Amino acid sequence: MHTLTTEAYAKINLFLDVLDTRADGYHNIKSIMQQVSLCDKVTVTKIDAESGITVTCTDPDVPTDERNIVHKCATRFFEHFGITDRGIHIHIEKNIPSCGGLAGGSTDGAAVLKLLNELYDIHADRETLCEIGVKVGADVPFCVVGGTCICEGIGEILTPVKLPSLRYKVLISFPGEGISTPVAYKALDALPRPADHATIEDVLGSIAKGEPPREMYNAFELAVLPNHDKARLVKKIMLDSGAVSSMMSGSGSTIFGLFEDDIALDTAITSLSSAGFDSHVCAPVPAHN
Ligand code: ATP
Repeated sequence: MHTLTTEAYAKINLFLDVLDTRADGYHNIKSIMQQVSLCDKVTVTKIDAESGITVTCTDPDVPTDERNIVHKCATRFFEHFGITDRGIHIHIEKNIPSCGGLAGGSTDGAAVLKLLNELYDIHADRETLCEIGVKVGADVPFCVVGGTCICEGIGEILTPVKLPSLRYKVLISFPGEGISTPVAYKALDALPRPADHATIEDVLGSIAKGEPPREMYNAFELAVLPNHDKARLVKKIMLDSGAVSSMMSGSGSTIFGLFEDDIALDTAITSLSSAGFDSHVCAPVPAHN
């Protein structure tokens, strides 16, 4: 088999606290990440070894050279397993907004690790793929594992959470303001944190029953929402339309709403569209192996 394709799912954070800064400059976090059905499509094809790693992407704003996360993941994969036959072409059909806090690049990278594992008949386990992936990005291991996880350390210490079937839909809207993750961390470091906010246990308690959490927390909202009017407006529209809850994902500026009621969901889609914002309805993706 010379070509393989897979879906690469986006993630949202149902809870995200940013803890201390480490000696290596990374921040420790405590988060609940949830994969959602909004996805890119990633295809890997074996080509002549002399061509090396080539990348194409339907989104012209995404780099296709060695800066692309899929290029970095493929290079690390080949190095790890001592593979010299490195001729592959990677095509990304992009649907996940870039720089939106949805791990769009990391999920493409994780998809490439899994596809190369199959294409080169390596049979590496999930832990090994996570070890390779974390060298490229903190969110790559979660994207390898998927489903719902508690993520600690820089995001690479994963505890999968087994859930009953999830009775809610997720509406995702990218307000069009891309945010650099390092810039968001810097802004957040300069701010005092609220003493009182929803805890990870609050969120776990709701999702353990298959319900959308009514209270969530993302520390980055403090640093990002006050100076991003569009993100604030999108969140307000989601809540006014009847979302059970709404929050920014990761370092933003994507806003998601959790809906139990299809009428409220339709109201939100229509109101967002009237205000000039696209939105995507998706579902939480359950754990898979
Ligand atoms: P996270 O939620 O993990 O912080 P994000 O969703 O905010 O990530 P990405 O979409 O992963 O951000 O993109 C961040 C940067 O990575 C952008 O500057 C983008 O150009 C670059 N990039 C590299 N490879 C990819 C890729 N395959 N898809 C999207 N962006 C990529």
